[in-house]
Amino acid sequence: MGDITKNFSFYEYRPKGANKSWLPTSKYMKYLITKHAEMMQIIRDKHRKGITFNSAVRNLSDYKRLLNAGYFPSPTSDHFFGQAIKIPEKEKFKISKFGRFYSFSVGAVDAVSNDIKQLYRDIVSLNKSGDIDSGQIIYESHQDKGWEWIHISTNRHLSFSDGICNLVGKHKYLHTYNGGKSYEVGIDYGIF
Ligand SMILES: [Zn+2]
Repeated sequence: MGDITKNFSFYEYRPKGANKSWLPTSKYMKYLITKHAEMMQIIRDKHRKGITFNSAVRNLSDYKRLLNAGYFPSPTSDHFFGQAIKIPEKEKFKISKFGRFYSFSVGAVDAVSNDIKQLYRDIVSLNKSGDIDSGQIIYESHQDKGWEWIHISTNRHLSFSDGICNLVGKHKYLHTYNGGKSYEVGIDYGIF
């Protein structure tokens, strides 16, 4: 039994390095995680296989660790679950419209199961039918390194106006084969 939904608990959303008794650090983060877990439960019920998270809540230290490990994390990532993130100097040119801090993240996880391609098909079909309302679904793989996961975020409209959502302007569907170095827009119809 999870402590948020039937199958999901707060500890599954904890940042790397936090222990299992971790809880959200603000009421707003708790709200965002709860909304995300409710969406994941609908997916879990359709997928009928266990789903685990490679990465959920991230802190700025995780962002730096991922950069150093050769991944391509974004300072405007939804993995920050509402925390205000100071935009690193070298990223400023990309996102100067947001000012010095980015605080529009709404929550995302990198999900895996023992059938990731089926998980992708299940998530995309639930989103198309309106059973879930994810803001962004990304099939992420790195063919050389064998990485594969599904990035799935809640919908920014939970927290923000149309104006902010348009300013942030994230695509609903993306896919990558090089671990996020570059993305193609749209559903990966090779899988779906
Ligand atoms: Zn992700």
